[in-house]
Amino acid sequence: MLFFCFFNLFMINQPNVSLVNGVFGVGNLYFFFMAYHGKAKPWHRHFLTVSATAAAFFAFYNADVRAGAVYWLLLMPPLYCLLNGPKLGLIYTLLLALPTIPLLFIKSDSIAYFPYRSSINFTFAYFLACTVCYIYEKQYEKNSVNLRKMAYQDPLTGTQNRHALKIFFDQFNRIPNDPFQHPRKKEESMRLLIVDIDYFKQVNDTFGHDIGDAVLVDMADLLKRFTDSHNIYRIGGEEFLITLRNHSATQAYKFAEAIRQRVESTTFTPQEHDIQITVSIGIAELHKGQTFRSFLRDADQNLYSAKNQGRNLVHYGVIDTLESVKSA
Ligand code: GH3
Ligand code: MG
Ligand code: MG
Repeated sequence: MLFFCFFNLFMINQPNVSLVNGVFGVGNLYFFFMAYHGKAKPWHRHFLTVSATAAAFFAFYNADVRAGAVYWLLLMPPLYCLLNGPKLGLIYTLLLALPTIPLLFIKSDSIAYFPYRSSINFTFAYFLACTVCYIYEKQYEKNSVNLRKMAYQDPLTGTQNRHALKIFFDQFNRIPNDPFQHPRKKEESMRLLIVDIDYFKQVNDTFGHDIGDAVLVDMADLLKRFTDSHNIYRIGGEEFLITLRNHSATQAYKFAEAIRQRVESTTFTPQEHDIQITVSIGIAELHKGQTFRSFLRDADQNLYSAKNQGRNLVHYGVIDTLESVKSA
């Protein structure tokens, strides 16, 4: 745009088009700078869409058709799809076609062009460019969803895996660095529960690995009844982690205790076996800036205290002396 700003101003004496190019060129440089530093905002891409469209259309509208400014409009459908996704991209493509095709037909009425044929050629090339990008973007969206699932989901239980937990940690730690953007999230507290099935090896030894797997699936389903599945992670073979946002120590303890009691009173029935299991739960508070490793160490300490005190127990060091209650 900046190139055309100078070109239109000094070479072909088109100050109006040059001004539009200049304003949008500087705007786009700013967006590039912001995106480069990871500070892109959603409205930037809308502005980019509108500015590129306005500059290309204005050039096409103003200039003689023989100058070939219409070629720039062929670039718009791919740009729309890449910036806004396939659906919105298609809508923008149709909207731009409405004034462009009749205008091209009128402008082509010269000795240098056949109006019908140039309009038909443009229309096909324009919509074909859109179709190719639409299909590409749709495929890309589908692949992204599948890749995300493969990368972040535990295939057995459908809960999230350790990679997803690592991402959660990184995001949680990033928030305080940007208090301007997330003023309220600053005070947010985060407690995490580590839920470990007691003596799970015995389940495998007694009923077989397949039944053990089925118990893990049922266990995950039980946890999903307590909280959204995006708060549940499977972090080890028979170990799950639950994130609790804005729960006080007592609330987190009660939440864990409710899970413990529900597991204790549930009979798991994979392939018509009746299986009773219990869980031990360790709770720890996650502090801003804490590393993944050091958090897991804290939480594991609470979990091992629960195990050492006999299992089927919730342990949270902070309130343990007040509220730790061994199950009946
Ligand atoms: P504790 O009460 O101390 O936690 O005893 P535990 O037997 O549950 O713990 P331990 O760490 O000794 O054994 C965990 C067992 O979990 C061992 C392994 O057979 C089983 N396990 C781990 N991953 C899977 C899995 O994906 N499927 C099945 N079926 N079993 C698994
Ligand atoms: Mg265990
Ligand atoms: Mg374990």
